[in-house]
Parts: sequence; C-alpha cells; structure tokens
Amino acid sequence: MNILERYHAMDYAPAPEARSEADAWLGARDFSKALFIAGDWRAGIDGKSFDTSDPSTGKLLAKVSDASAADIETAVAAARKALPKWSAASGYERAKVLYAIGRAMQRHQRLFAVLESLDNGKPIRESRDIDVPLAIRHFIHHAGWAQSLDREFPGRKPAGVVGQIIPWNFPLLMLAWKIAPALATGCTVVLKPAEFTPLTAILFAEICERAGVPKGVVNIVQGGPEAGVAIVNHPGIDKIAFTGSSEVGKIIRKATAGSGKKLSLELGGKSAFIVFEDADLDSAVEGLVDGIWFNQGQVCCAGSRLLVQESVAEAFIAKVKTRMSRLRVGSPLDKNTDIGPLVDKTQLDRVRRLVEEGARQGAVCWQPDQDVPSSGYYHLPTLATGVAPANILAQEEVFGPVLATMSFRNTEEAVELANNTRYGLAASVWSENVNLALHVAPQLKAGVVWINGTNMFDAACGFGGYRESGFGREGGREGLEEYLAPGEPHGPVIKPSTAPKQAARDTSENQAIDRTAKLFIAGKQVRPDGNYSLPILTSKGKLAGEVGLGSRKDIRDAVSAARACKAWPEATAYNRAQVLYYLAENLSGRTEEFATRIVELTGAAHKAAKSEVEASIERLFYYAGMADKFEGRVHQPPARTVTLALHEPVGVIGIVAPDEAPLLGLISLLAPALAMGNTTVVVPSAAAPLVATDLYQVLEYSDVPAGAINIVTGHTAELTAVLAKHDDVDGLWVVAEAEICAKAEAESVGNLKRVWTGHGRSLDWPTAQGEDFLRRAVEVKNVWVPYGD
Ligand code: NAD
Repeated sequence: MNILERYHAMDYAPAPEARSEADAWLGARDFSKALFIAGDWRAGIDGKSFDTSDPSTGKLLAKVSDASAADIETAVAAARKALPKWSAASGYERAKVLYAIGRAMQRHQRLFAVLESLDNGKPIRESRDIDVPLAIRHFIHHAGWAQSLDREFPGRKPAGVVGQIIPWNFPLLMLAWKIAPALATGCTVVLKPAEFTPLTAILFAEICERAGVPKGVVNIVQGGPEAGVAIVNHPGIDKIAFTGSSEVGKIIRKATAGSGKKLSLELGGKSAFIVFEDADLDSAVEGLVDGIWFNQGQVCCAGSRLLVQESVAEAFIAKVKTRMSRLRVGSPLDKNTDIGPLVDKTQLDRVRRLVEEGARQGAVCWQPDQDVPSSGYYHLPTLATGVAPANILAQEEVFGPVLATMSFRNTEEAVELANNTRYGLAASVWSENVNLALHVAPQLKAGVVWINGTNMFDAACGFGGYRESGFGREGGREGLEEYLAPGEPHGPVIKPSTAPKQAARDTSENQAIDRTAKLFIAGKQVRPDGNYSLPILTSKGKLAGEVGLGSRKDIRDAVSAARACKAWPEATAYNRAQVLYYLAENLSGRTEEFATRIVELTGAAHKAAKSEVEASIERLFYYAGMADKFEGRVHQPPARTVTLALHEPVGVIGIVAPDEAPLLGLISLLAPALAMGNTTVVVPSAAAPLVATDLYQVLEYSDVPAGAINIVTGHTAELTAVLAKHDDVDGLWVVAEAEICAKAEAESVGNLKRVWTGHGRSLDWPTAQGEDFLRRAVEVKNVWVPYGD
C-alpha cells in the first residue's frame, strides 16, 4: 500500500463529546417539577408527565411534568402580575438582565450543546458551533435594543403578556428568538417548548433564576398541543408568537381571529437552492450540504428543492452524489458526525412515507451505500431526481434529509420554478455573476435570500417568510416591531352600516342617461357582473344616485387586474411619487365638487367636508414624498457579509374603507399601499361610495396604470369575505365593524395573507398617517451578499 492508498484507507476514529456533565444534570434534576412559573418550579396541577428520549437510542432521558390548561392559567396570571413593573423598568435595567442571561449561557455553553444534541439528535458540531452561540448572541444583541428602545421607537409600548410556542428543531435557538425581543421591549412571557425537546428550556429557566430575571417575567411551561391551545385561547394574553408547521399556524390564525391579539407566525418552507451554470460548483455543493443536510434537513428554511441549470446539471449531480457518499451518519455526540437521527420515530415514519410517495409519483430516489446505526431514528441522506414540479417531494415540506432536484434552462424558468410553491421562506442563489444574483433575488417570493451561501442567520437581521411561511419577522428591528403594541390611535367603535341593503335590477340601459356609477377595474369603468345596482341616499334620505352592486365575480376580476398590473410594482419609486403628486394635483382642482358630495352624503358641514378633501390632498402629497424615502437598511452581521433588508411591496392589497370620512379614510389607506408599489382592490364606504366613484375620472387623468387601483362598490361584509378568502390577495386592510374584521382574519387562512384591521374601531383620520402604514405596505426581504475571496 503506498502512502496515497494508506491516506484514502484511513477512517475517522470515534471522537465522542463527553456527556458526564449532562448526565449529572439529568440525574440531579427533579423533572416532576419542571414548570417554571412565577420563579418557582412546579409540578403540573393534574400531575401528568410526558417522556423525552434520546433519538439516537430511543432511551428515556426524563419524565417531564406536563402543563394543563390550569397551569397555563397560573402562568398567565404570573406574567400579567409581573408586567407593570417589568415594562416600567428602564431600558438599562432590562439591558442588564438580558446581558446577564447571555453571559450565564456562555458559562454553560457546553452543557447546553450536549443537552441539545441528546434531546434533539442534532450533531454536536452544530449545537456547539451554531445553535448555542447564536442563541447567546441573540440575548446580548437585544440587551442593546432594550437600552435604545425609547430612542429608536419613541412613544411605543410593549405588546404586553406574550404567549410563545416553539418547535423542536432548534429548541434553544427558537427560545432565544422569542424571549430576547420580548424582554427587550418590556413584555412578559409564557413560553411553551415542543414536547420532543424540553431540556434546554429547563436549563434556560435555571439561568433566568440566576441572572436576576424578576419572578413572573419569564414563565416556561412544558407540554404538548393541549397546553399550546390553552395559551392561544387565553384571554389574558396580548400577543401570540408561534413557530411551527403551517398547518398549526393556520389553526392559530383562525383561533385568534377577532380577539385583538397581535400575532406572528414563523412557519414551514420549501426553499429553492438555485445553481446557475456560472456558479462555483464545488462551493455550491458544500453550500447544498449545509442547505439540506444541516440538522438532518429538519430546518424550516432547508434548501430542499435544488434547481440547477441544465447545462451543468449532470456534472453537478455527480458531484453531489460523491459528496453525499462522504457524509458521516452516526451518533450526534460524535464530533465527526454530519448526520444524526431524526427527532422521533413519528418524524422518521413521516419522512419515509413521503419518500415512498415521491417515488411512486415518478421520482428516482438515490441514497449513498452506507449503513445506519442499528438503533435510533436514522434516515440516510436522499437525493430525488426526475422530480416533476407537482411531485409531492417538490411541493410538501418533508422536514428530513431529502433533496428534490429539478433543472431549468434560463433565468425566467428558474424564477418560475422557485416561486412555484405555496411557501416563501428562503432561497439560495449561486452564481459568480453578482449582477445576475441581485437581479434574481428581488424576483423570488421569499423572506430571505442567500447569495452564494445558505442558512446564514444573525440577531441583527430579520428572518421570516411570505405566503404560507407565515408573517412577521424575528431578529433585528423588524423583530422588535412584533413585540410592540400597535401605534395608531383608535377612533370610535364602528356601528353596522346604514347603507341600503336592497339591490335593484339595473334598468339604466333603458334610461336616457345612465346614472349608475360603475365599478373601476383594470383602468376601465365596467358594469357589475350581476347587473344589479344599489341606491345611495343623501344624508336626508333622498336618492343621490346608484352604484353597481359588486359580486364575487367582480372582486375576482379586480384581483386578476391587480395581479396583472406589472407597471406599478416595477415602476421606480420616483415614478410612483410623481403619479401620486399628480393625483393630488388633480384632486385639488376638484376640491369644491368633492366637498359638495361629502356634504350631500354625510350631512357634514361644508367647512368640515372641505377640510376632509384638503386633508386627503395633503395625505397624497405626504405619501408621494415618502414613496422614495421609506427604504430598507443594510446590516453588517458578524460574517464577511452585507445583508440588504429590502422593502418590497406586499403584492395585491385589498382595502376596505370606512363609512366615516369616506374620502380621507379611503385615501389614508390607499396612498401608503400605492406609494410602496402595491396594487389594490378597494371596497369603498358602503354608505358614501359615490365619493369613490367620483374619483374614477381623477384616476383616469393622473397616469395611474390600469390595474393599480380597482374599485368595487357593494355590500362591505360580502365583498370583504371574498377578498379574505381569495388566495391571490396578499394583504387585506379592513376598517369596518368588529364582526367584519373578525371574519376577515378568520377567513384569511387559505394563503395566510397579511390582515390588518381596526378591530371594529375607526382611526383618528386627521392623524392616521405615517410609518406604521408604510410598514404594513412592505415585506422586508433580507438578501445576504458575502464578500471576499
Ligand atoms: P408543530 O406545528 O407540530 O408544533 C409546533 C409547536 O406547536 C409545538 O410546541 C407543539 O406542541 C405546538 N402545537 C401543536 N399543535 C398546537 C395547537 N393546535 N395549538 C397550539 N400549539 C400547538 O411543528 P413541529 O413539528 O414541532 O415543527 C416543525 C415545523 O416548524 C416545520 O413546519 C418547520 O418548518 C417549522 N419551523 C419554522 C421556523 C421559522 O422560523 N419559520 C423555524 C423552525 C421550525
């Protein structure tokens, strides 16, 4: 055997991480009292417990007390009691606590890492080098936010008592993502870890005891879905922050509808890993290993769909297979291990089922020729080729070490394939041509895009998704927003509309002059599909005119027109600003006419009506001015990377405007949406829709591209429900009575659109302007761009 042969024949010797400290901790703890409530360790009120086991052996690690609804009650009461003092503490006081937590975690870094690997099965290299350091960084980073909160978010208050529910794939890191911003903003917390992985949260609670976290500020309740449901439904909770599956996310969206609870959802994904022909293929292979086999693929943003350009596909797949053959599957505590077991048998069974089904649907599933350990829930890394876009492996989140592969011919096809998913969490783009990569990144429907990299995270950079990957961001400035109470002032409770409900057959074609105001769709005035109209009365009860009675079909047409309008989202911010200025200018030329209409329909005094029109013009001016100023940021995370936090339009936004202030209310909602490049479908006031229909001519003169603004008059409740259910509507803003708002939230679950409502209250329209509205009109996409050789 020559030296080279000897070198290749060498195998890794086992390099196990010591587990004695973890075993000592496990042996010494009383897990029958594992609920951390009001600073005390308690057993569950009904005495139940659940098992947590080592997925590499199936052996029991601990029997942990299981929280019931009664325990959640106690935990919420403790958090509520602690809230006034904690939220009133100075930023400096809170910063000291956050820093103390971070420091104490640093001192127990190794114990955290070993416990995490024991409980979850992730390789120790990952828990030691990624999960735990990132979790610590989160606390230390947020110490700074606590102290600078008053300066950076003046006048904002904490959201209050927060219920937080997390999954098992990054138990400590998800806990840190949840608890650090909550503490920084002055919220108190009831957090429920996942039932498969309670251990590091228990150790974290011990750290809270030692780091001077006041009693009741952090409450950690162990348990399963039953405890989760009790948190979601508890009326004493002001905000729910959930990370987990899209399926449960949708249940929570529905359950919290109409409750007034603030909600953020970080859900699943099916992220694209796009390799262009000019990519450094060897680096891309390494990136892919990290993208899909990190944490056995149990990663929400796993690059589980490989899209590779046809010209290099064969060569690239060959390299991937070679690399897969070298991945070491084994004990999570061995420092050489690349792939550990899945978290539980149920998860292993699920992954196997999906792979079988994918193969049945035509995919060719390849695995390296190697053995897996005889015990534990191991699954070999799997490469599926010949995957059709509709194959279950291309569409469903497998949450396991399974990569689905497809090829593309050109950039357009790559983008189309990447966006062919109901999710929108992350994407990786590999190309040596940074122009190409930065051209593709904005076209991808994903909250995070990594260029020539993957799975990069930092506490300063927001993380979160589009579409069914949920809403809200974790980390950085955007993450803090989620823990602050909404800032806008609330006006009076909105009463059910007094607008006439009775439709009349539109006989206007028989009339000499058609007095029925039509709908405004795709830049044209069109008759409603049903050919019915609604009489509109003056404030004195006389007939002021008629408007078309819009239906489901009209809303669908309006949404299609809004979706088809590319000219507006693709226009430069400067162009959009000019159109909005022009709109304001044209409206100002008709001030008197609009004021007269408002007087006629609402009975307002002429002076008040005129000032409503003038305020609307001023508002258009404001948002015209902001169109090119509400910009993103650049983050500099501790890696050789810049992260561009880009502001992108949400997409198609449905807007339901109020009866009161029929012009100013409508403009206050429409203008920020337009300024940020969204296209819109507007349901105007049902009582005074003629104010909106009078706008058609102004719109026609003002160079607004066809489809950017669509207006459908009719019954508010009915049209709002259609918008809420429509899967091609990305955002919905509703100022209407409480019942309509609640329904809009509940019925939005199909595509998890971003719904914002006034919860049945109106706004103080003269002051309803500013960054809150603009923030709602954008998605923040974080594009990571590495630099250096
Ligand atoms: P899961 O949705 O089954 O459970 C998540 C948590 O919710 C657990 O704590 C569980 O006990 C609790 N829960 C279950 N049913 C509930 C209910 N009806 N009401 C309230 N709580 C309930 O998800 P999982 O299997 O634990 O985690 C995997 C999922 O998490 C994947 O879909 C993954 O993509 C997602 N995830 C997303 C992110 C992100 O940031 N977007 C991060 C990590 C994981």
